[in-house]
Amino acid sequence: MNSNCIFCKIITGEIPSDKVYEDDSVMAFLDIKPVSRGHVLVIPKNHSADLLSADNETLKDLMPKVKQISQAVMKAVNAQGINVSTNNGAAAGQIIFHLHFHLIPRYSKDGLPPWPHHEVELKTRTELAEKIKEKFTPDTITSLL
Ligand code: AMP
Ligand code: ZN
Repeated sequence: MNSNCIFCKIITGEIPSDKVYEDDSVMAFLDIKPVSRGHVLVIPKNHSADLLSADNETLKDLMPKVKQISQAVMKAVNAQGINVSTNNGAAAGQIIFHLHFHLIPRYSKDGLPPWPHHEVELKTRTELAEKIKEKFTPDTITSLL
């Protein structure tokens, strides 16, 4: 529990929410400014700022519920697809620093813009892939905060 955190206050009920799911460790509620109809946020009750700083036990418990809640949301709004995503860091668009997964129902003609993609030449890609492999030390990665 972080006393300055809006989502911790939603968990305690100090701030109201449109709750769709709750158990001992997870809560899900409607996003107050949805990207599409049925946009839900899924959060662990255990406060961590983002995915990268969350402990693996929390994630092990959380991910099957993200899947289950996504299935319920899709059925409820007759979605054809669903984006499941989490922003890490202000540069990635994170505003609330309590780990949350966005479940954003999608339709083939919903008009939401796709990610912009760019062509990159093979040599550049190969060098970059090597650089990432060198840095692969998941246990030492900490929060972006
Ligand atoms: P992010 O940019 O990934 O940090 O997303 C934060 C999300 O929380 C945004 O989509 C907001 O619309 C949503 N949000 C902020 N305050 C509330 C609230 N009190 N209840 C529900 N959703 C909220
Ligand atoms: Zn919190």
